Amino acid sequence: MTRDAETTVDLLGLLPEEAEARLLEHFHARGERAYRVRQVRAWLYERDAAAFEEMTDLPARERHALAEAFSLAAPALVQAARSADGTVKHLWRLGDGELVESVLIPADNRLTLCISSQAGCAMACVFCATGWSGYRRQLSAGEIVAQFRGARRWARENGRGPITNIVFMGMGEPLMNPKGVFPALTLLNQAYGVGARRITVSTVGVVPGIRELARRPEQFRLAVSLHAPNHELRQRIVPIERKHPIPELLEALREFEAAGGRRITFEYTMIDGVNDSPALARELADLIGQFQAHVNLIPYNPIPGPPWRPSPPQRLRAFAATLHARGIEATVREPRGRDIAAACGQLRAEHETSPPRPFLQLQQALAGSAG
Ligand code: SAH
Repeated sequence: MTRDAETTVDLLGLLPEEAEARLLEHFHARGERAYRVRQVRAWLYERDAAAFEEMTDLPARERHALAEAFSLAAPALVQAARSADGTVKHLWRLGDGELVESVLIPADNRLTLCISSQAGCAMACVFCATGWSGYRRQLSAGEIVAQFRGARRWARENGRGPITNIVFMGMGEPLMNPKGVFPALTLLNQAYGVGARRITVSTVGVVPGIRELARRPEQFRLAVSLHAPNHELRQRIVPIERKHPIPELLEALREFEAAGGRRITFEYTMIDGVNDSPALARELADLIGQFQAHVNLIPYNPIPGPPWRPSPPQRLRAFAATLHARGIEATVREPRGRDIAAACGQLRAEHETSPPRPFLQLQQALAGSAG
């Protein structure tokens, strides 16, 4: 007998000390010893159990009692798509049928996991497939952490190494989901043991969220999707620029830096003839020269919709060289997992049944400006 997941507490979404307290209370009420809590904790945070049934060092009656009292929101793996370059994309089905994706990206001696923070996204960035498909709902902390648990378990069972880094660069805008993302950060760091400096929150520039992250004592890393060095151009690419314009964004970034001296990554999607001129590179260097910055240049991955192309390699190199000449570190990010639609901005459940959001106006405006 298991109860409906909605009427029971998802153990995976509770902060570590809260989970511990609830488990202790649960076992205490049943006349069980405290070491049962340690057993469950190991299954939760080290062995990535997907169901209480798997906790085989507990007697069957205790496993049943746990399933009565709590739930484990372990998403179902719908698909694991493997790229020729070693990248693996997982499609997960959540309890209510929503689909989210995470991506494992091996590089050198790292294994980076890219996770989603929302089902869909409301930010409507013009070049992003998730943005075009619209916003569905927030992910809970448990659902965010579940992607890590599921991917880690998959990696273990498929002979991949341990996950060394986590980036919030999948679907969604993490800082628009503080109730899910901030506890998830605590969990990943404290319960699952991923170093804060190995976890990067990537934001399009949600200023209140950046301030909240700055106030955290841990050294979580921040990446900012800038894409343009001035208001005029940026508002055409990322609509949030109208709400939190560049000066306000920079102010929040200064706070973030002052709070812990942490290096900030600026992401810059390179779109041919739109934001990739040497003059804009100089403008960018002037804008972010005040920070200990690193710029990630991402060649635009064409998606259906905008009439754009990626910057050609020589333009990417020239842009990077202009930044280097002004003392700004910059690297060109290789697109990974293109053959399985796992590359930046391509994460979008192809299984989605809902109609695309009406971005037609925007599309028309773009088509007009391109012609
Ligand atoms: N909401 C977060 C995470 C988004 S995805 C953010 O905006 O930072 C991570 C990165 O991929 C962002 O920098 C995003 O702008 C970029 N991206 C999205 N679509 C892309 C595309 N089609 N080509 C290249 N980069 C893209």
